[in-house]
Amino acid sequence: MQVDLIIIGGGIIGGSTLYHLSQLGYQGRVLVLEREDALSKGSTALSAGGFRNIWTTPINMQLTSYSIRKLAGFHDELQFPIGFDQRGYLFCQYEKNLESARTFGEEWRKNGVRIEFLDAREVEQKVLDHIDPDVKEVLGLQPIAGGVFGPDCGSFDPSAAAQGYFERGIEGLAGRAELRLRTHVSKLRIVDGAYRGVELEDGTFIESGKVFIAAGAWTNQLMERSGLSGADLPPVVPLKRMLYITNFPPIEGFERIPMTIIDQGIYFRPEGPNLLIGKADPETAPGFDITADARYYEEQINYVLQERVPGMERCRLTAMWGGLYDTNEVDHNAVIGEHPHVSGLLFATGFSGHGAMEAPAAGLAMAEVAMFGEYRTIDCTPLSIARFWDNRPIHETIVI
Ligand SMILES: Cc1cc2nc3c(=O)[nH]c(=O)nc-3n(C[C@H](O)[C@H](O)[C@H](O)COP(=O)(O)OP(=O)(O)OC[C@H]3O[C@@H](n4cnc5c(N)ncnc54)[C@H](O)[C@@H]3O)c2cc1C
Repeated sequence: MQVDLIIIGGGIIGGSTLYHLSQLGYQGRVLVLEREDALSKGSTALSAGGFRNIWTTPINMQLTSYSIRKLAGFHDELQFPIGFDQRGYLFCQYEKNLESARTFGEEWRKNGVRIEFLDAREVEQKVLDHIDPDVKEVLGLQPIAGGVFGPDCGSFDPSAAAQGYFERGIEGLAGRAELRLRTHVSKLRIVDGAYRGVELEDGTFIESGKVFIAAGAWTNQLMERSGLSGADLPPVVPLKRMLYITNFPPIEGFERIPMTIIDQGIYFRPEGPNLLIGKADPETAPGFDITADARYYEEQINYVLQERVPGMERCRLTAMWGGLYDTNEVDHNAVIGEHPHVSGLLFATGFSGHGAMEAPAAGLAMAEVAMFGEYRTIDCTPLSIARFWDNRPIHETIVI
């Protein structure tokens, strides 16, 4: 078939873009290429599925506020369940951080982000915070002075959302979209700064007017194999992040707690009848290994959790896995849009752990660029790779 647009990647970003093309009335032909034998086998399936609009950069507040509204209406709009659960996010704060958060409160208000400031007693009521002063000192834990609570935040199932987006996108494009699994793109053919087509691992060449690389943490690898280098590559590396599952601590009502973030960025929330727990390891070196490590949980997470959550010592690790963040090492934000030096090459990567929750807005933005050559709903121009060339990074600091 004659192809107008190739989408590389069967995760939530590729899916959302396909769906939004169909919603915008795209009349071209789209081919989706995914190397695995099923959709959503990359980071999308390994995500913690959290969503929040609590950020320090207006662009992230905008992208996530829009996306949360779309996730809330996903079931009605796509007739597809995604486990949307607006249970809130609670950032527990030491005295000093609480002060800075209060100072920042006006920015959240201006950007339409609803926040409640909680005192220590209210935090305790939400999550039950009992601290033994002696052990606290050994672990270097400071008293929790209060918290920042985002009532609009919560969690969903990113794999289900990706699946829903692909199914409805393919239906909506009515015979003009095709999905090919087990199809590994080895490189893009780029001639004189213009994209021409993709070369598959088996040697096949497929021509298309445009390509959208939605290959998450593998995007740079593919770009490098296609001849891009240096500043033409987004400053993005694959970084392993691990998640752990334990049974619940024996606390009445614990299944109703919000996503809670405590000391050293440890976060946890109920996941069915279990607790899902994570913490970014600042020592992780870039790489594609995703082996999960129980020792990291035992040595870096468990002790702190036991101090903050009574009964946690009775909880056992029952499952764990690792996955990749596509981490933007410069400013921890997405790098998206058409490549300024390669016409016809669109990409979206660098989401640094917030790609699932930004997927509704990012997919719409990429569909608009593919179809109209410009953003029409949310201006994502500041997220272009050109910001690094002009030294205009957009630093996001609330990254977990
Ligand atoms: C442990 C963990 C926790 C996370 N928690 C959250 C969270 O709470 N909230 C949140 O918003 N985000 C979270 N994230 C991040 C989120 O999962 C990602 O940002 C998001 O899933 C990225 O989606 P994607 O479609 O860009 O990439 P992916 O889902 O990785 O999809 C890329 C696809 O491209 C395919 N591919 C790659 N190269 C090729 C090729 N050459 N040819 C063909 N196909 C190719 C891959 O097989 C893959 O299916 C987390 C990530 C991890 C690992």
